Amino acid sequence: MGKITGFMEFERLEEGYRPVDERVKHYKEFVIGLDESQAKVQAARCMDCGTPFCNSGCPVNNIIPDFNDLVFRQDWKQALDTLHSTNNFPEFTGRICPAPCEAACTLNVNDDPVGIKSIEHAIIDRGWQEGWVVPQPAPVKTGKSVAVVGSGPAGLAAAQQLARAGHAVTVFEKNDRVGGLLRYGIPDFKMEKHHIDRRVEQMQAEGVTFKTGVLVAELPAAIKVTNWAKQTMPPKDLLAAFDAVLLTGGAEQPRDLPVPGRELDGIHFAMEFLPQQNKVNAGDVLKNQIRADGKHVIVIGGGDTGSDCVGTSNRHGAASVTQFELMPQPPEHENKPLTWPYWPIKLRTSSSHEEGCEREFAIATKEFIGESGRVKALKSVRVEWKDGKMIEVPGSEKVLPADLVFLAMGFVSPIGSVLEAFGVDKDARGNAKAATDGERSYATNVAKVFAAGDMRRGQSLVVWAIREGRQAARAVDEFLMGASTLPR
Ligand SMILES: Cc1cc2nc3c(=O)[nH]c(=O)nc-3n(C[C@H](O)[C@H](O)[C@H](O)COP(=O)(O)OP(=O)(O)OC[C@H]3O[C@@H](n4cnc5c(N)ncnc54)[C@H](O)[C@@H]3O)c2cc1C
Ligand code: SF4
Repeated sequence: MGKITGFMEFERLEEGYRPVDERVKHYKEFVIGLDESQAKVQAARCMDCGTPFCNSGCPVNNIIPDFNDLVFRQDWKQALDTLHSTNNFPEFTGRICPAPCEAACTLNVNDDPVGIKSIEHAIIDRGWQEGWVVPQPAPVKTGKSVAVVGSGPAGLAAAQQLARAGHAVTVFEKNDRVGGLLRYGIPDFKMEKHHIDRRVEQMQAEGVTFKTGVLVAELPAAIKVTNWAKQTMPPKDLLAAFDAVLLTGGAEQPRDLPVPGRELDGIHFAMEFLPQQNKVNAGDVLKNQIRADGKHVIVIGGGDTGSDCVGTSNRHGAASVTQFELMPQPPEHENKPLTWPYWPIKLRTSSSHEEGCEREFAIATKEFIGESGRVKALKSVRVEWKDGKMIEVPGSEKVLPADLVFLAMGFVSPIGSVLEAFGVDKDARGNAKAATDGERSYATNVAKVFAAGDMRRGQSLVVWAIREGRQAARAVDEFLMGASTLPR
């Protein structure tokens, strides 16, 4: 513990943001991270409370009190090693993790929690700056081969762990670039994509092969998911060529809103819209990009994906942006004795909301109204929730102008056809069925086929995907070698 009285002396300091009028003009990151001395002071707020709930609140179990202490002592290299011992990609989580660790921090019981995420961010950025993040190729090769299907955070974490254990790893990705939703989905202003590129370079130096533009199995004909594949690979060929296969294809099937008028032009899934902007930011030329310039935009869905549509629409120059949420507005502050150390439901205002957005709660969409085949307006109705049931409020119907509508109501499951082509059993929600503990952890019902990340657990978070990728890598290593020294 760095400073015994630190938590009483120092206030929490949030990372800063560049001003709204400046940042909405571009797609670059705008968070101003802590400098060295600020990070030291923030780390000094850690009480080293003895029962670090933050450590179990963090899905990868980052060893938070230890790296706080090391940052306080300004031993940044050791802090980086501690962070990397549990997390392959802290530059991703340090930017876009919602930080459940902070909800669980003991100081959060009656004060502001330690700024764990901002300290993590400072450690990894310093690590890259100093040149401390280098390839760690396995000293001995095992002669075993593993195919990883999907290059999101789960696939990347698994591939890195497996390569470091000495296996020959090939990652197959249907899109034209590596990264899953980190690349195509999460806007560049939340996380610039060079962070992925430099990890890919590191992993290639560790022996991982990336095959982009390869769709494993097939997709249903009319499905609207990102797919820039130029070739397909049947599961039987993959199974014949590799000693083990790990499925990390995410949960891409979007939730639809089948109300009258859904077929009108101008109504899109969020994941039709967001990846296009990522592509344009990468320098690709798109002929028919969905653009929000001068339009009245309604985003249906109050979560992160919806918020990303808000931020992107404002950068396009939308005339107005409104976001709908079906549930009532949550309280501004949580009831800490009731919620701590768990993730509380409370009103969360994202940086995208701050850039300009009307937020409507307890509101449902009844109908899309069109003109010449294009959406022009949306009919909404207020709702109340009684005994878990949604009831429309009589007489509360309203028509709002809508030139562009984004459906951001979450994802129901992975794409069923991919799992079916492998013969993998699904759970009740349509996810790949595999347990996370026991002798057959992450193993599916099909011999030598494993599953992890959103494809196994359903729509989740980057930090959970990293955890599952790491744990699945250990399970695959055990399967191939009979034992594993990879951390779980
Ligand atoms: C818009 C948006 C914003 C988000 N923001 C955040 C955030 O701020 N913080 C956070 O923690 N989480 C966020 N999430 C959630 C997070 O991105 C996911 O939980 C996480 O990326 C899941 O990782 P994954 O590796 O399991 O799958 P994914 O990241 O979905 O990657 C799966 C990859 O597999 C590929 N693939 C699928 N099937 C095949 C196939 N048959 N053949 C070849 N390739 C295939 C896909 O193309 C994709 O690249 C967000 C999600 C979305 C949609
Ligand atoms: S990965 Fe997320 S939960 Fe874990 S320490 Fe970092 S910010 Fe907290």
